[in-house]
Amino acid sequence: MPAVEKANGQLGLVACLSENWVMLYCGRFGFSIKSSVVMSNASAAKVFPRMQPGPRFEVYTLADLEKGTIPHLQILSEEQRLLMRAVAHVLPFRANRYVVEELIDWDRVPDDPLFQLTFPQPGMLAPQDLATMTDLLRRETPAAEIKAAAAGIRARLNPHPAGQLQLNRPRDADGRPIDGLQHKYRETVLFFPSQGQTCHSYCTFCFRWAQFIGDKSLRMASREAAVVHEYLRRHPEVTDLLITGGDPLVMKTRHLADYLEPLLAPEFEHLRTIRIGTKSLSFWPYRYLDGDDADELLRLLEKLVAGGKHVALMAHYNHWRELETPAARRAIARVRETGAVIRAQGPLIAHVNDDPVVWARLWRTQVHLGIVPYYMFVERDTGARHYFEVPLVRCWEIYREAIQRVSGLGRTVRGPSMSATPGKVEVQGVAEIGGEKVFVLRFLQGRNPDWVQRPFFARFDPRATWLDQLKPAFGDDRFFFEDELTAVFQAERRGGAS
Ligand SMILES: *Cc1c(COP(=O)(O)O)cnc(C)c1O
Ligand code: SF4
Repeated sequence: MPAVEKANGQLGLVACLSENWVMLYCGRFGFSIKSSVVMSNASAAKVFPRMQPGPRFEVYTLADLEKGTIPHLQILSEEQRLLMRAVAHVLPFRANRYVVEELIDWDRVPDDPLFQLTFPQPGMLAPQDLATMTDLLRRETPAAEIKAAAAGIRARLNPHPAGQLQLNRPRDADGRPIDGLQHKYRETVLFFPSQGQTCHSYCTFCFRWAQFIGDKSLRMASREAAVVHEYLRRHPEVTDLLITGGDPLVMKTRHLADYLEPLLAPEFEHLRTIRIGTKSLSFWPYRYLDGDDADELLRLLEKLVAGGKHVALMAHYNHWRELETPAARRAIARVRETGAVIRAQGPLIAHVNDDPVVWARLWRTQVHLGIVPYYMFVERDTGARHYFEVPLVRCWEIYREAIQRVSGLGRTVRGPSMSATPGKVEVQGVAEIGGEKVFVLRFLQGRNPDWVQRPFFARFDPRATWLDQLKPAFGDDRFFFEDELTAVFQAERRGGAS
């Protein structure tokens, strides 16, 4: 239900019940009228502009591609739509009406960056796989056969890069691994609530598709607030809880509150920061604007701030256009009113934002709106990497050219950073040392905190896209952290066996 707003006129409270019904409550005479005749929402919106109800959350999935129910797609040829369906059978597709109607610029499709970000692209599958899938669809193959072929292709893609599943699962007091938690860097625990394992729309490049596809063995999720709280109680070194997904803000506020409100108790004083990783400011800003649940969310953020926590929305942005709609701007303003800070991070993606001009404008707009630019990521080793990946040297050039175009307030952003097995590794630049061309790298976060901020060097390689493709410079046979990392792996394996 849309928001109940205090109207400043004589009418007291006004509630929009649906698209056609409003509730008028007359404070002075103590009666209410529920009527579509007295005032439609459209005219109510003119009288009380702030109470204009937002659109309903309406999601689009593969079934809509199959049935052709997204009218905007009619501008594409039949062949283009077939290719799109072929990809969507293998990799998850989910969009919503806001994304389709307010974010994507259909005059620029298929090159539009937000279309590339949300709709399946033919280049996302290897040519052979794309041919297999389109062929099956053309021949109107039985659904089971299509499903099996798609599963076969998926199995060859890499859903969990950087050793996430094996390495980062914390253990309970009895040494049993805990689902839904990851504790890789000393100060920060990641929590994946089970109700937050989806998003308001899916990013085409996303590596979390294994969660969305619903393969249980690959899901990193927890059902238990108690388990999280118990873990935090036992780990006084943890200062930050980062609640992530999917997108935790697909959850009802009530569920989020079950996880977060108890953290205001004195026993969690060591936990100073609550971060919420989310794309909802971009994919569904009405999450913050419309209805009781939105208002409750803002009250929850306020309460956490008042209780002494630093509350940070770790907002995922890829393109400045995500910041331009009136709904996005209103959502940002409402979050900031709660005292929560919005910090922005996002990956550098071919076809979406591999352009310094785009990043500079993104950071400038963020600063203008009171958002703190935080991380620029290098895209991970994921299923459709050949389509989305950008060589490290190009990532660095884009970062550098972009940062040169913004003032110091935009230069809080670090990157390009790879979240790799040993830690977050930043490409600081390319240099020539003793006649050898090298990448200068450093850890922004390390599995061992002692690795952080130590510069190290890799042989320059113009095609490398990830840390594991780099070789140590100056004839060394391994990077300084590798022996220790191997030892961690071995210890973990032993721990896992016990
Ligand atoms: C990025 C990340 C964090 C948070 O790191 P900060 O540098 O504090 O933002 C925590 N855990 C994991 C596994 C991460 O990848
Ligand atoms: S919002 Fe985040 S988790 Fe969701 S699809 Fe995009 S990148 Fe993946």
